[in-house]
Amino acid sequence: MIKPDLLMMGSYPDGDMEALSSAYRLLKHWELGPEGLGVASRPLIRALATRGDLGVDTQTLESLPNLEIIACYGVGVDAIDLETARRRGIRVTNTPDVLNGDVADLAIGLALATMRRIPAGDAHVRSGDWERGNPALAPRLHGKKVGIAGLGRIGSTLARRFSGFDVEIGYFGRSPRKDTPHRYFDDLTALAAWADLLVLTLPGGNATHKLVGAQVLQALGPEGYLVNVSRGSTVDEAALLQALEARAIAGAGLDVFWNEPRIDPRFARLDNVVLQPHLGSATIETRRAMGQLVRDNLTAHFAGLPLLTPVI
Ligand code: NAP
Repeated sequence: MIKPDLLMMGSYPDGDMEALSSAYRLLKHWELGPEGLGVASRPLIRALATRGDLGVDTQTLESLPNLEIIACYGVGVDAIDLETARRRGIRVTNTPDVLNGDVADLAIGLALATMRRIPAGDAHVRSGDWERGNPALAPRLHGKKVGIAGLGRIGSTLARRFSGFDVEIGYFGRSPRKDTPHRYFDDLTALAAWADLLVLTLPGGNATHKLVGAQVLQALGPEGYLVNVSRGSTVDEAALLQALEARAIAGAGLDVFWNEPRIDPRFARLDNVVLQPHLGSATIETRRAMGQLVRDNLTAHFAGLPLLTPVI
């Protein structure tokens, strides 16, 4: 049987590349480049696989006249031109739910690491400074007020994790949820003013672009902490850097940034941040499950079966 072509925008872990190559002829966009796909081969491409961080641009979509499906390895589809996909009837799938636990775990880790200054404590021990004294005291996490912006799949998992820390939870979204006892805020600035720790689990995209700006950070205040495991685009990074440098907020734990991986070098000069290279879902188990879900969606599509996790 002839293997269908699969255009891949970026590489997947080795096991996933092997599994995909047994069912598809892989066309690697990152090796071929934008001009590498011959005019004759473009109409043969019915399926495209990408990652949340890469998405797929309008120009590439427009060059594929018979594209039927975009399978995204990741839940965030903000880097995919959904408008063009919708207009052309191209199906889009993502990998929701399988990564909730890991992103929530990392958010907890970042909250603890930032507030309790775990990296600074580690450096204190390694450097030998401990002999000269103890580091400054840090604020506790338990008993605090935690604001979650975006109480969706990841945000709800995070709220469950936080219940073990005896914190009070409030949340912000476009509408209140009926299935949660937590306090709803219809205004993000009001949530930030209430919270000691604000965690972002929102999707990226136009609707949430720079939702956290100077006003929200000012409301969070000099004793407030920010954790962002959503997308860099949800935060006005210039305002965040300014707030961190001026100690207008106490600190931030950040997994996501503008312009990844070439982030603003000012972050590395701050001692009140803990930085991660977008590792929210980066565990062995979850990445395996994400790869499987991508393949299952592609298999379903080519078999004419309902997609498992359609976005559109
Ligand atoms: P989800 O289930 O769709 O939850 C998103 C939440 O955000 C919902 O509660 C939604 O509530 C709220 N929301 C959506 N648009 C909003 C808007 N314009 N204003 C205010 N609230 C809004 O998504 P999820 O699966 O939890 O994933 C959330 C995001 O996490 C992803 O889109 C991705 O960007 C990010 N993520 C990051 C990593 C990482 O590695 N750091 C990994 C996976 C995912 P309402 O509908 O009530 O407004």
